[in-house]
Amino acid sequence: MNVCKACGEPIEWIRTPSGRSMPVDAESFGLHRLCHGMTVVTEAGTVLCGTRYARGTMQGYIPHWATCPQADQFRRQGMTS
Ligand SMILES: [Zn+2]
Repeated sequence: MNVCKACGEPIEWIRTPSGRSMPVDAESFGLHRLCHGMTVVTEAGTVLCGTRYARGTMQGYIPHWATCPQADQFRRQGMTS
């Protein structure tokens, strides 16, 4: 199992269609209600952004940078798989 280097929470790496790996909360897979400013990543790596897509309920993961208390820190340092 992968863990976030900053906060120690379990994460998964999802590969997006553009070939990038995105850290997501391992426990967060399920149905999420998209709203303004919220992003969900599907298992296929498609990023669904609540500001660009119609609001509704989507199945996927929550990006870890949305919940990590140290998000600012690892954004600065960068994360690698
Ligand atoms: Zn974290």
